[in-house]
Order: sequence, then C-alpha cells, then structure tokens
Amino acid sequence: MIGYLFAAVFCLLYLSARKKLRDTGKEFVANASHELRTPMTVLKGFAEILQEHPNISGVQLKEIAGKLVSTAHRLEKVVKSLTILTDVEWASKQFQSIDLVPIVEECSRFLLSVCPDAQLSLRSEAPSVPVFADAGLLDMALINLLENAVKYSEGPASIAVSIEQTAGEVRVQVKDAGIGISSEEMRHIFERFYRVDKGRSRKLGGIGLGLSIVKTIMEKHQGRVEVQSELGQGSVFTLVLPKK
Ligand code: ADP
Repeated sequence: MIGYLFAAVFCLLYLSARKKLRDTGKEFVANASHELRTPMTVLKGFAEILQEHPNISGVQLKEIAGKLVSTAHRLEKVVKSLTILTDVEWASKQFQSIDLVPIVEECSRFLLSVCPDAQLSLRSEAPSVPVFADAGLLDMALINLLENAVKYSEGPASIAVSIEQTAGEVRVQVKDAGIGISSEEMRHIFERFYRVDKGRSRKLGGIGLGLSIVKTIMEKHQGRVEVQSELGQGSVFTLVLPKK
C-alpha cells in the first residue's frame, strides 16, 4: 500500500515537473517570437511604404532608409543574443586553470575603449587569482555587467570593480552609482526578456537577455551571480566562483 502511495506521489511530481518545463519552454518561445515579430513588422511597414510610393522625396527616402537600417540592427541583435543564450546553455565545458586578474583587466580596458566617458577603478586583493573556468564565458559575463553599469547610470558611469577571495570563493564585484533597482524588481531581473523599464532598455539597445546569459554562465561554473541594489542608490553585481 505504502509502495503504491510512493509511486503515485512520484508520478504526480514527475508530471508536474514535466508540465513546468513545457510551460517555461512555451513562454520562452512566445517571448522570443514577440521580440522578433516587432522589428519584422516595422521592416515590413517601411518596405510597403517604399513599394507603394516609389516617387517619395529624397529626404523621406533617407529617413526611411535610416529606420530600416536601425530596425535591421535590432533584429540582428535579438537573433545574436538568442544564439548566445543557446550556445552558453549547451556549451561543453572548456574549463582550465586560469588567472582571473588579467581577464578582469582586459574587460575593464575594453569597456573604457567603447565608453571613454566612464570612470572605472579596479582593485584586486592579490596580484594573481587562479580559478578553474572558461575564460571566454567569464569574459562575456563580466562585459555584460560592465555594460549594464554604463547603460543604467545617468550621465558618465562611475564603476568600481574588485576581486576578492574568501575561504571557499572568488568574488568579482561590479559596483555602479546608477539608477538602482527596487527590491520588487530585483526578484525578476535574471528572468529571460525581463526589463524594469522596457522603453529605456530598448532605447539603449537592450533585449532583456544579458543577465540570463550571466546567470547561465555562472551556473555552468557551479557558481552564481548576486545582486544588491537600492532604487536611486546604484547596484552591486557579484560573480561568485568556487575557489580552485
Ligand atoms: P537589458 O538588455 O534590458 O539590459 P539585462 O538582462 O542585462 O537586459 O537586464 C535586465 C534588466 O535589469 C534591465 O532591463 C534593467 O532594468 C535591470 N538592470 C540590469 N543591470 C542593471 C544595473 N546595473 N542597474 C540598474 N538596473 C539594471
């Protein structure tokens, strides 16, 4: 009797887990198609205007051409981010023993080359911090956090990056003095396609996949990403890796 009961409970749990997985998959496809459909509708609309009004003025043609190019770029970005997310999820682990310090230095240099107005300080407790990781993936996670620190700051961003070690962990912290996030929103920001302010994110070229990519990368490393923030007071995102 107890055996049957266990089997029934196990079956129910299994079916509900399968359903949850199916629902998550459906939601992802629905969100992804929405993100793709919006720029495609815009492209179609402008292409139809050109088809129906072959004699429009040069000024109008220039304006439409500009919109076609920026919309095509957005479409390209959505597809690229979706591909990255899938690649990261399915990436076979290419981990090796590497020094974290030059990776963080290189990412910081890259950020300053694309956002020369940003103020960035970098501090490491030790000159060398060995980790067992995939350098390319860590680089991607850190660049995502650094770019967000710039995107979600009013005016030139002020960013403090630090590398710390505890008994069992290595922690890379990216602290900004930007717009911050409320505790209500903080619960959702790692969900795929979630954006606190869709309009702002979209204007800055955001799609809402950056933090999902960071989370997936850290999970691949048996690590995690943490966030502390307060609305209007800036944010601190921390990549946490198990110590080698
Ligand atoms: P997006 O492409 O919109 O930047 P992300 O997944 O990287 O997507 O981030 C999700 C949301 O989390 C953003 O839309 C933004 O609202 C919020 N966010 C991320 N990083 C920061 C930050 N450093 N400061 C304030 N808000 C942030």
